[in-house]
Amino acid sequence: MRYPRPKDIDAMAQIPLEAAKLGINYFDTAPYYCEDKSETILKVALAEIRRQGYEHYISTKSSADTYDKMKMHIEKSLKTIGVDHIHFMHCWCLLSLDMFEKRKRNGVIKALQEAKEQGIISHIVFSSHMSGEDIALVADTGLFEGVTLGYNAINFPFRIQGIKAAARNSMGVVTMNPLGGGEIVLHEKRFDFIKTRAGQSILEAALHFNLAHTQITSVLVGFTSVEDVRSAVKAIDTFNPLTDNEIDAIKKKIEGSFNQLCTTCNYCKECPEGIPVVKFIEAFNYQILYNDPAKVLDRLKWHWDIQNLNLLEKCTQCRQCEEKCTQKLPIMERFEKLKKLK
Ligand code: SF4
Ligand code: SF4
Repeated sequence: MRYPRPKDIDAMAQIPLEAAKLGINYFDTAPYYCEDKSETILKVALAEIRRQGYEHYISTKSSADTYDKMKMHIEKSLKTIGVDHIHFMHCWCLLSLDMFEKRKRNGVIKALQEAKEQGIISHIVFSSHMSGEDIALVADTGLFEGVTLGYNAINFPFRIQGIKAAARNSMGVVTMNPLGGGEIVLHEKRFDFIKTRAGQSILEAALHFNLAHTQITSVLVGFTSVEDVRSAVKAIDTFNPLTDNEIDAIKKKIEGSFNQLCTTCNYCKECPEGIPVVKFIEAFNYQILYNDPAKVLDRLKWHWDIQNLNLLEKCTQCRQCEEKCTQKLPIMERFEKLKKLK
């Protein structure tokens, strides 16, 4: 989902191709990612991946909320990716238990089960940004064979129950966002505590944190270049399992506030007033990380091109963004704090 120039399809296809060459075999895509070009880029890469005989498993997603839409989306993804079979089909982005119940009631799971019986998908899985406790409730229904969820050294307390429940149900667990939206690597000093071994880079430490969990089957990294792929694979090559004591030591060092960072997932983007919530809340990370208003204002000005905070006055407090926030951040409260920064 992080291809930098999605319209440059052939060039972008080199990224998954390099991944396959280096032994990565799980390819996670979805409609709408990267200006709706992600599945097409994978299609182009797959032609060569197949020709070279590299092992590959394809994962894609649908947020269909009815039986008919799910059937239609599966057909569309098969066509766009250019395959006759999808290994992992996600019931995509369950944001609440109500949403799960609604999709179930409307026949979404039935459509997935029928597709599996037909042999056009192999595994019915779901992805979610809910809390670990809610993910556990969905996992315990026994309807799914795997789950994809955001998990890293920042937000692990929010999600660990989901991972445990998935393991209890013998499900595959794919973790996304292992680098905390890039914050862990960008703020190396702050997150230094996740390093457990001498000479370990922060990228290695972040990926090793996820890999160290025996319940986790696969760790996703959103690559932006062939070089990214090489660095991540190099980081994996140096992995030695962490002991339970090492994992516990990392977890103990994490202060409560680290669970409060915006991961820039952008699920809050549909603000009816056109407020770019992600830009403000991502900038607020700097207040949490550095307690320095100047850094927040600099971030807004130079990174996000927001020259003043007047836009925040347009907020009607409808809280739609808070409901959608994958990290359950108190966005309204942060807006008020932002308004007071000088
Ligand atoms: S609460 Fe404010 S920022 Fe959030 S969606 Fe509503 S108007 Fe937009
Ligand atoms: S505020 Fe929440 S939903 Fe919006 S980008 Fe940050 S973590 Fe994601």
